[in-house]
Amino acid sequence: MPSDSRAKSEVIVQGISASQGIAYGPIFVYLRSDVEVPTYTVDPTKRMEEIARFEQALVLTRQQISKIQDEVEKNLGADEARIFDAHLMVLEDQALIGETIREFEATSRNIETCFNQISSRYIKAFDQIDDEYLRERAGDIRDVAQRVLQNLLGQSANNLSKLADKRIIVANDVTPSDSASIDRSQALAIVTDTGSKTSHAVIVARSMRIPAVVGVRNLTTRVQDGDWAIVDGYDGTVIINPSEQTLFRYGQIRLQKKGFEDRLMEANRQPAVTLDGVAVTLMANIEKVDEVALVKEYFASGVGLFRTEYLYLNSARIPSEQEQFIAYKTVVAALAPAPVIIRTLDLGGDKPMAGNPTLFPKEDNPFMGFRAIRFCLEHPEIFKDQLRAILLASVHGTIRLMYPMISGSEELDRANAVLAECKEELCARGQPFDEKMAIGSMIEIPSAAATADILARQCDFFSIGTNDLIQYLLAIDRVNDRIAHLYEPSHPAVIRTLKHIVDEARRAKISVGVCGEMAGDPVFVPLLLGLGVDSLSMTPPLLPAVKYLIRAMTMADARALAAEALTLSSPKEIYARCEAFYRARMKLE
Ligand code: PEP
Ligand code: MG
Repeated sequence: MPSDSRAKSEVIVQGISASQGIAYGPIFVYLRSDVEVPTYTVDPTKRMEEIARFEQALVLTRQQISKIQDEVEKNLGADEARIFDAHLMVLEDQALIGETIREFEATSRNIETCFNQISSRYIKAFDQIDDEYLRERAGDIRDVAQRVLQNLLGQSANNLSKLADKRIIVANDVTPSDSASIDRSQALAIVTDTGSKTSHAVIVARSMRIPAVVGVRNLTTRVQDGDWAIVDGYDGTVIINPSEQTLFRYGQIRLQKKGFEDRLMEANRQPAVTLDGVAVTLMANIEKVDEVALVKEYFASGVGLFRTEYLYLNSARIPSEQEQFIAYKTVVAALAPAPVIIRTLDLGGDKPMAGNPTLFPKEDNPFMGFRAIRFCLEHPEIFKDQLRAILLASVHGTIRLMYPMISGSEELDRANAVLAECKEELCARGQPFDEKMAIGSMIEIPSAAATADILARQCDFFSIGTNDLIQYLLAIDRVNDRIAHLYEPSHPAVIRTLKHIVDEARRAKISVGVCGEMAGDPVFVPLLLGLGVDSLSMTPPLLPAVKYLIRAMTMADARALAAEALTLSSPKEIYARCEAFYRARMKLE
């Protein structure tokens, strides 16, 4: 640490933890400022030239963004690179371009001024929309517009690609283009004044595996280049000019976290077997094809939930049967013979297909609305494309097919009838598929739980979607912050319902797993296993902690915990028992 910063006093500021890890180093302050646009009148004889200048700037911007996109794809993968599709789309927006040219023709003011004015109007309109996804589009337009203006004015872009040495980047804002240019070998951490957990900078920081903290208001005005800081990406704290004492404490924490993580990763290489010899199946939840790499990296026994709607959400249109077949085949073949549970489309609710208001009209109550299997049964052409793609991929490995949001036996019958039609169509085409492909139902609606005995006769397995099951059982909107404290997985209603579902699955001799977030929360893992759940499926990075815990507990103790939980009446009491069980096995007291 440089001697002058030792004299400065320590300041602790709090933001939102966005990417885990702890970093310590000197700060590089990055202030992104809007381009200053001069205004002047263009001579009538130069009108064509002015429009040509605009077109050239658009072409140049397109080339620059495509180059960044290629680099991001190379460094971070295809999914991260897709952020820039939205940018390229801004450059093709005929309304934005057309209005700029019309404004120029009407006023004869230079094209920068016209473009700045029209794009600012668009940005303002998107900024005011009460929808996080669309608000983020304002950021995309702002980013692209700044780039076009820089090109028109012959300025070079701000970028983070040339950090002189290892630095913590403290920025007022980090746009996707900025984050793509970050020098990966020199960036220790990212801290921003603005932003949310889902901002692009955060996605990039996570994939670079460096700590990030966002929403630290006005931090850029309170630090200088060369100040030293600790960034704690675990709890969102930033400590500027830390004292020797703090440095020592953080050094210890870093060692502890590292030691703990090493222990977990070591356990992760071993089988998931309890101390009394019961093997547990641990699977991975994935949303994108390239996450198959994580399934392997974290030694999952297969995929317990492939949320296929992400193939649609990231695409401007409904993917074709062939496109889907390739996606499913890639995943299944990469993991064969391990099973892959492919869940059919669960669009709607918190996952509407953006830009498609005809298929997904706005609803007052989307979580209870036109989503998942309800949507698929109303749109058999879309549903059948997906089912045929899954059937075709089934010969390349082990696919188990699962329907989301089943509310009762008739719905399951109707879905299976559509599947039967698809099988006939493939037979007629002479295309092979796995005739014995297992069919499962998600149990995530209370009516499905209550009729689990009936549903169990109609399918080969259950997978309990606790995220939705809890929200519907407790009438707590799962994405509403104001009532988040009432969303209690340890509520006796939840525990009893889980027990009922498991018992009915057992009686019908079908397997039952959990694929909601509860399955990846080590506090609840012993309870779920004690209730008799066969398999747990979770986001891959959660697997090491869950496996470590399973290897440190007995199934007999887990059963006793579940039996006790079933006698208790308070969610807090049940949670406390589960937490004590977990802390004792993880040696966290
Ligand atoms: C669930 O509801 O628990 C689940 C796994 O599905 P999703 O989170 O995709 O609704
Ligand atoms: Mg669900």
